[in-house]
Amino acid sequence: MSIDGQTQLVGVIGWPVAHSLSPAMHNAAFTYAGLNWRYVPLPVRSGDLATAIKGLPALGFRGVNITVPHKVDVIPLLDSLTEAVSIVGAVNTIRIDRNTGHLEGLNTDMTGFLADIAANNIRVNKVSRVLILGAGGASRAVAAGLVRSGAHVIICNRTLSKAQAIVKFMQSSWAHPNIEAASLDDLPHVTRGVTLIVNTTPVGMWPDVDSTPWPEGVPFPSGAVLYETVYRPPKTRLMRDAEKAGLRAVGGIGMLVYQGAAAFEVWTGRKAPVDVMKMICEQELKENEN
Ligand code: NAP
Repeated sequence: MSIDGQTQLVGVIGWPVAHSLSPAMHNAAFTYAGLNWRYVPLPVRSGDLATAIKGLPALGFRGVNITVPHKVDVIPLLDSLTEAVSIVGAVNTIRIDRNTGHLEGLNTDMTGFLADIAANNIRVNKVSRVLILGAGGASRAVAAGLVRSGAHVIICNRTLSKAQAIVKFMQSSWAHPNIEAASLDDLPHVTRGVTLIVNTTPVGMWPDVDSTPWPEGVPFPSGAVLYETVYRPPKTRLMRDAEKAGLRAVGGIGMLVYQGAAAFEVWTGRKAPVDVMKMICEQELKENEN
């Protein structure tokens, strides 16, 4: 489909964005849906974020994704926020009203994670005990979704204060959130009864593919499921180790696809072709495999 005066623009703002799978995923979805839309990578440094965001309505953009390192800093630059943003504390999608230029901040990482665990038949409820490794942006989105589903959540992080900060934030959003913080050194003492482990650290991500965030000598909780948010490579060392220990391991490509699908639907008002988006991501990952 050619680019012309009717082409609608969306994109991803981050630093860096060169390796993002989102342009390929969204452009394939637009083509499949017969929409004259294009998704472009927009590398923006922190010092230029405010200027870039303010300029989007004037340039006619219909929306953008926001990625590392801008997911929190973008919040004060927006006109309104959804409930998901207030419980996660981060924005990964902006919708722009084409008539008024109103900028609405959303978080589709949380819904993307919840949609993918549901698609993989991973049930989370009041009797679930979930261990989250890491306390960055992805951890916040995952923790918010899990707390909302009633699970007992343990955030285990190398820097304990960051895990405690997430617990404090969740306590400001819910009356009695079932959530606690632990340091990575405490891991052997908190795995008992864990039904789901979610890795939200980047450890094991390409090119550091031989690393794992799981400390040596600590047994995996038996019968648990491992959800890995890293998707490059599609099967990380942590997933392989967990499988060897008899756990079921699920990779993070689905979370990426569902957060993208939610953004597609918010921008276009059309149902996202999830299967096409997933196929393109898997294909891109395979082509760039080393
Ligand atoms: P972030 O904000 O930088 O947080 C990273 C967290 O990992 C921090 O808590 C950090 O601990 C911990 N960490 C980093 N290196 C570590 C190490 N060597 N050992 C132990 N802990 C370590 O990053 P993020 O935005 O949350 O993203 C994290 C990962 O999630 C990314 O790699 C990405 O692949 C994945 N992700 C996937 C999706 C998806 O759709 N599948 C979406 C979002 C993110 P400290 O606090 O001690 O520094």
